[in-house]
Amino acid sequence: MENNGDKMSKKPNILLISLPYQGHISPMMQFAKRLSSKGAAVTVITPFSANLISDDDRNRSINIEYVSYDHGEGQNIVTVEDYMANIETRASEKLLEVVENQAFDVLVHDSLMPFGVDFGHRHGLKTAIFFTQPCAISSVYYLVYQGKIRCPVQEGADLSFLPDEIPISHVKDLPYDLYHERYPGTLEMLANQFSNADNADWIFFNTFLGLEDEVVNWLSSKWKIMTIGPSVPSMFLDKRLADDRDYGLSLFKPDGDACIKWLDGKDSDSVVYVSFGSLANLEQDYMDEIAWGLLDSKCSFIWVVRDTEKSKLSEKFVEESADRGLIVNWSPQLEVLAHKAVGSFMTHCGWNSTLEALSLGVPMMVVPQWTDQTTNAKYIVDVWQTGVRVKAHDKEKITREDVTKSVKDVMEGTKREELKANALKFKEMALEAMSEGGSSDKNIDDFIAEIVTSSTST
Ligand code: UDP
Repeated sequence: MENNGDKMSKKPNILLISLPYQGHISPMMQFAKRLSSKGAAVTVITPFSANLISDDDRNRSINIEYVSYDHGEGQNIVTVEDYMANIETRASEKLLEVVENQAFDVLVHDSLMPFGVDFGHRHGLKTAIFFTQPCAISSVYYLVYQGKIRCPVQEGADLSFLPDEIPISHVKDLPYDLYHERYPGTLEMLANQFSNADNADWIFFNTFLGLEDEVVNWLSSKWKIMTIGPSVPSMFLDKRLADDRDYGLSLFKPDGDACIKWLDGKDSDSVVYVSFGSLANLEQDYMDEIAWGLLDSKCSFIWVVRDTEKSKLSEKFVEESADRGLIVNWSPQLEVLAHKAVGSFMTHCGWNSTLEALSLGVPMMVVPQWTDQTTNAKYIVDVWQTGVRVKAHDKEKITREDVTKSVKDVMEGTKREELKANALKFKEMALEAMSEGGSSDKNIDDFIAEIVTSSTST
């Protein structure tokens, strides 16, 4: 394990706090591990009880303290404003308790917790905002924050409010909330990620150089931002953190053995892996078309269908697909994507899933649903060219023929070769960014060095 601790005169003491979503907790846990491996003392406040942290994580050589906060799960909260206000109250109470007991140098907080900047400064800490989404999407939210976009953006609208650095010309490639109001208050919450950006001491993005450099540069002209990703367990990238094989905190229990044993019996590049992440609820029709399209493709597949969604699978499909399909409640996704039998990934384009596929060089079929997924899909298909679209831009109707066609495009022929070659290029770039001296690794080193310098000069 890398450890710069001995070289430091003072060990930086860093406190991190996350929002209660898998897609927000995982990248922050990974960032915490990197900080710890470089000699910082690290405490993570997670919104779930510490018993969800994997035993591996507790035992591993990377030393992190975990504190949990009760985010009020199960309460009857109706509006987005009330939900965020509840998080702010509960997280602030826990933060206060923790900082009164220990002296920290820096508070790193999720970008959707903008109160963290004022909280940190009030208690004598420097502050860092951690964006779990890419720069392209965050930049669009920044334009909303500045009042430069009138929402909802109508179909066919002129998109000249976007800077040249963001290559979007179709309304449905914007983040979903810009053209479709999901819940009142959602867009304000997303825009408010920037409400305290001018006062933060550091701003981090879970992205890496090579992916979206133009927009990274555009944002860098406004703040000093640092790319620190991809925040994927080290054993799937640079392998410098010896036992770092999973994120450490999983809200679902993976059917690990079942997936890997099943994959071990399959030929190389023969399996389609299908997952819609931790939150998506698909319409019945949508599920049916995916199911029958997969079956018609004649490919083997693993499909993650969370228990809460299982009733949408017909008995007929389950019976007919039994010899070719494995349906699981939750998979060890990184291990699955890294398995040689997996040839492609049908994904809802959550940012973590996208980064994982890029980091492991797996071509994708994109089936975005909402939030940032619509824009991630655009980048996957048109900018990075590591995937094909299953026709729809969001929850629009798809047919089983669309599904079968995209599976064939990604699994066979010259299209597959092109996608695979591009995917391997990004795998290389992701590895380079996180390896010693790579762009993200260097930014993490610089962050630690800046804390040491500022705490010795005060
Ligand atoms: N994931 C997993 N097993 C599954 C499905 C998803 O471990 O069966 C993980 C996946 O590796 C990713 C996270 O859950 O790290 C999902 O995050 P993402 O941002 O892709 O989507 P979200 O769940 O936030 O919509």
